[in-house]
Amino acid sequence: MRSSPTILHLDMDAFFATVEQASKPSLRGKAVIVGGLGPRGVVATASYEARVFGVHSAMPMAQARRLAPNAAYLVPRFALYRSISEQVMGLLRDLSPLVEPLSLDEAFVDLEAGGTAWDERSARLAGAKLRADIRAVTGLTGSVGLAASKMLAKIASEQAKPDGLVLIEPGTERALLGPLPVRTLPGVGPATGDHLRRAGIHTVDELAEAGEDELVRLLGKAHGHALYAMALARDERPVVAERETKSVSVEDTYDVDIHDRVRVGAEVQRLADRCVRRLRGAGLSGRTIVLKVRRYDFSTLTRSETLRGPTDDPAVIREAAARLLESVDTTGGVRLLGVGVSGLADYTQEDLFAQAAGVREDALGEEPEAAPAEERQTATERRWPAGHDVRHAAYGHGWVQGSGLGRVTVRFETPGSEPGRVRTFRIDDPDLEPAEPLPLVARRPGASERAEAGGAGSAGP
Ligand SMILES: [Mg+2]
Repeated sequence: MRSSPTILHLDMDAFFATVEQASKPSLRGKAVIVGGLGPRGVVATASYEARVFGVHSAMPMAQARRLAPNAAYLVPRFALYRSISEQVMGLLRDLSPLVEPLSLDEAFVDLEAGGTAWDERSARLAGAKLRADIRAVTGLTGSVGLAASKMLAKIASEQAKPDGLVLIEPGTERALLGPLPVRTLPGVGPATGDHLRRAGIHTVDELAEAGEDELVRLLGKAHGHALYAMALARDERPVVAERETKSVSVEDTYDVDIHDRVRVGAEVQRLADRCVRRLRGAGLSGRTIVLKVRRYDFSTLTRSETLRGPTDDPAVIREAAARLLESVDTTGGVRLLGVGVSGLADYTQEDLFAQAAGVREDALGEEPEAAPAEERQTATERRWPAGHDVRHAAYGHGWVQGSGLGRVTVRFETPGSEPGRVRTFRIDDPDLEPAEPLPLVARRPGASERAEAGGAGSAGP
């Protein structure tokens, strides 16, 4: 392990919710919950104000509504989150060529490899400057952890939240890790956590005391060895910008075409489990689940689904594969089935059981707002997801506060305005149309002048 705290972990604070608060002045300082608002919806992100009520990511939306009935409930605007994420990742790549994104709002950076930092002082300066730059460019806050390993950098950024910086001095790692719950360690998800708890192991110290042999007996060889090393704060995993192995997959060809839909489903589950074993064997996890189906007529289809972050959880991968199978017509019979995982990382996010419960990027984006059964939604009402941008011919830019019963309520405000007024329209009002999100930070005069000058220079006389 290196001797200086030059691995940086950045995690934006309550990312989706903070973006919404920055966009919508009336929601600043208020409880904001972003996620799927349909019947199977799950919380993607809750603002810090909403967390006070006990709402957290991965919680079923119905439960969140009981805990925080007065919060603002919004459908994610992924295109906007992605564009802000690109700005942030660009700032990270200015620090080092070795940037390893874990999700839209989280990444590791090897500062030493970029020549940006080589000791404690230079690392702290780089982290502080990064936080200032992120705020200047995006208007948002991110928390930074600095340590000599990935595991500890991530723990440090968690401790820094919100809007802070924590540096773990080399030599203090074991004392710091010891009293923390085992779930703090990478690779300890809910299932492994339960398993260890039943064996009486709650803290990292207890994990280290249990000893390597006992952990191998409890968790298997690969996982047991890895976890024991982590418990001793030994983590040699490098920051990897791009992985050599692009995917892990397994497939089976059948001698006789399978016609029975139930049997096809069972085969897919079995392949998903095999794929997970292979993934875990290589110490990897991945974000994109791929299903391959060759039908009786040799036509081959692939379907894929990308999760919010990497996982190696068999339940998550099984559920994703089953969902993908739902979209494939197998009535004529199936000759070959395959399940694969790509978008690989050697780190698993801890809260990804959310994905088993249906947080899917595509589904989140399209789900209509929850409405009582008697208020059946029409296609027109689905045009107005809560939180999305609109433009009115007379009143200008606003966002949908709610819709139903043929009406849509719009709050007219922009990132730079005062909190705005609410007005209600018929959903088919010809003056109202969906709009693109506005930038959170008004372009500085200098920046826009430069851009204009560049444009004029290339096209001008
Ligand atoms: Mg975050």
